Amino acid sequence: MLKQISSAIILLSVLSSCGNDNNTTKEIPSSNDTTVVRDLHTQSNADEVTMKHLDLDINVDLTGKQISGNATWQIENKGKIKTLKLDTYDLTIDSVKVDGNKVEYKLDAFVEHLGSALNIPISENSTNVIIYYKSGAKATALQWLTPQQTLGKKHPFLYTQSESIYARSWIPCADGPGIRYTYNARVTVPKGLMALMSAENPQRLSDSGIYHFKMEIPVPAYLMALAVGDVSFKAIDERTGVYAEPNMLEKVHYEFAETGKMVHAAEQLYGPYRWGRYDILVLPPGFPIGGMENPRLTFCTPTVIAGDRSLVNLIAHELAHSWSGNLVTNATWNDFWLNEGFTVYFERRISESLNGKDYVDMLWELGYQDLEKAVEDIGADNKDTWLHIDLKDRDPDDGLTDIAYEKGALLLRLIEENVGREKFDVFLKKYFDEHAFKTIHTEQFLSYLRNNLLNNDKALEEKINIKAWVYGPGIPSNAPRADHVLFDKVNAERDKFLKGAAASSLTTSIWTTHEWLHFLRKMPKPLTKEQMADLDKENKFTQSGNSEIADLWFIMSVATGYDVAYPAMEKFLSSVGRRKFLEPLYKEMMTSGKQDMAKTIYAKYKMNYHPLAQGTLDKLIEGK
Ligand SMILES: [Zn+2]
Repeated sequence: MLKQISSAIILLSVLSSCGNDNNTTKEIPSSNDTTVVRDLHTQSNADEVTMKHLDLDINVDLTGKQISGNATWQIENKGKIKTLKLDTYDLTIDSVKVDGNKVEYKLDAFVEHLGSALNIPISENSTNVIIYYKSGAKATALQWLTPQQTLGKKHPFLYTQSESIYARSWIPCADGPGIRYTYNARVTVPKGLMALMSAENPQRLSDSGIYHFKMEIPVPAYLMALAVGDVSFKAIDERTGVYAEPNMLEKVHYEFAETGKMVHAAEQLYGPYRWGRYDILVLPPGFPIGGMENPRLTFCTPTVIAGDRSLVNLIAHELAHSWSGNLVTNATWNDFWLNEGFTVYFERRISESLNGKDYVDMLWELGYQDLEKAVEDIGADNKDTWLHIDLKDRDPDDGLTDIAYEKGALLLRLIEENVGREKFDVFLKKYFDEHAFKTIHTEQFLSYLRNNLLNNDKALEEKINIKAWVYGPGIPSNAPRADHVLFDKVNAERDKFLKGAAASSLTTSIWTTHEWLHFLRKMPKPLTKEQMADLDKENKFTQSGNSEIADLWFIMSVATGYDVAYPAMEKFLSSVGRRKFLEPLYKEMMTSGKQDMAKTIYAKYKMNYHPLAQGTLDKLIEGK
């Protein structure tokens, strides 16, 4: 997943206890068998029963906003247990059959964050469990869009977001990142709409409205994905392509035209892409996050369609997940940095291959600034700034901060700088090969690192100070910093402006988005209205089609009270659903004396936002 939540949300989150001491947890033995790691976010007992394969047969009712049908699990009862426990969240269970016979099942009481465990009696030799079910109104994974919320305005739309523990709200499953299975699906949708999954996908409409999917590579539940809507496909090359609403397909195709090159660059670094096709689905505007690395089909926000390919780095990130995350998966959400830190490091290496060192140094520096902000927001001594985070009795989304992404990536960069790039690349390629389609937790990784790269060299390990990074707070003092060749030039232009030079006199003509972001981010806040007007006149920030720049500009406008930008800002807030943009902009209104403005605008457009974004903003704006 691309970074989505600013760390401020951590402070707003209510940390509540599950209130259930009998949660079943999954135990994952480590490589050296001295550490047992529990996945605290699944109530399933899939450590004792192998979940081999899922056959899903569902109907998607876009008017009634409900998924209904059945899930057939092929299992192997290796632990010879009497009860299979699966995760569900707001599902109505109609009936359950085991090996063809109806059985009495039991749904446990609802546990906060985790949902209700479904208890199914099985025998030693049971191999087949069918659950007939319907999704509920509170399904956290499902966003149902009205035609008005799409670009085409004619058809409704559905998409899922299953990471981290939301798959259980549309499929009864063993919902832990360490539990992998293959799946087939038969999905019935209204005629005229297309259905897509994280699987082999259709490229044209089915006349019957029935679609068949196959995923022969085992994946965890958080990578289960479904989208239904009026979308079309256009190929980029023989193994990559884009899906989008028809009226933006050409734009999307232009923006992502270099995807094939990216896949090639990634393969050159760390070995073959193992998932067959790599396609991208661009969703309607309400998508709450940047991107989601659903296997074979990245789900992506339309906010990266800037018209000039300036924000396609997001695709490098989602693509990199095809190795780090989808291929080698964090065993529990406490180990989330293994998914995201590796992916940010890998994403920047792809970008460096394609765009050169000076360019990617800007990404590293902007990432460092994000990390500093996260540490400041969370608190420099807070244990939530450790790479290995403790999410016991908490919402796993509390771990989705820049710590996992940027601190994780920086540790890998530090190791690279200490051992040399050549050696580090050989190590990473081997790591992906040897752990392909497996899960790994933090201690396993550290032990693999010691044995395969650091060669148990204690002095080297102390120099890197891995312990301070993984089990210590804040940003360790040996954190590497990128060279500032391009940003030094930006700093000089900003200084000139702040000393009174007109915006028109600055040398900015060859700047990319990243230079502009650095230029604006490091401006003192608030600027005067005159300074804002001068910058705007020269650079047309208020009308910017680049969502990253627009968001930053609107935050500065609110701080200054530069009301010229307000109509455009309201339009932005009505059409963008990405939490990364919404949260800091509303937060600026709330903290700069413009609470009424925040409340009025939020009340107007709340329904355009995803339930996950609404949850964040309800707390921020309405104090709920
Ligand atoms: Zn990610």
